[in-house]
Amino acid sequence: MLATELSIPHVSTGEILRSAVSGHTELGLKAQAYMDQGELVPDELILGMVRDRLTQPDTQAGWILDGFPRNVSQAKFFDELLNTISQAYDRVVNLDVPDETLVTRLLGRGRKDDSEAVIRNRLAVYREQTAPLIDFYQSRQHLFSVDGSQAVEAVMAEIRRMIEV
Ligand code: AMP
Repeated sequence: MLATELSIPHVSTGEILRSAVSGHTELGLKAQAYMDQGELVPDELILGMVRDRLTQPDTQAGWILDGFPRNVSQAKFFDELLNTISQAYDRVVNLDVPDETLVTRLLGRGRKDDSEAVIRNRLAVYREQTAPLIDFYQSRQHLFSVDGSQAVEAVMAEIRRMIEV
């Protein structure tokens, strides 16, 4: 919704990976087992993918990155990449949602990797590898937390207010 409203691309690393899997590309073949288990796909596959995407012409006016960075080493790489390509990010949004709400929502979504066991593994991986990014971005004063347990429209309205700051 936000990408449409701002007329900038929504860049989801998960979506790029899912289309690589369904296209049976080399990247897709390498990534699939990790995705099926709710593990992070190794950084060496992710970083080149993000670099390729953010150096395409449609991303020059901005982008919304979704699902990246997922760990501190991706975040450090990302800072270097942005330096190299003379871009910057304005906001980092932390959508804060209780685990049980997430499990209920994801079970209702019906994606292939949305069995309860895989969802719970993704939450464990999140806590261990992704949650440290909250401190990483807070210390850089770029982090904004939003109560993501609200309805979609309310979450959208809060994010919009936040990016106007
Ligand atoms: P998502 O669509 O963001 O929920 O991602 C789905 C799956 O793709 C994740 O469970 C990971 O296996 C993989 N994935 C997506 N983004 C990343 C990333 N930045 N780093 C590592 N793995 C990722």
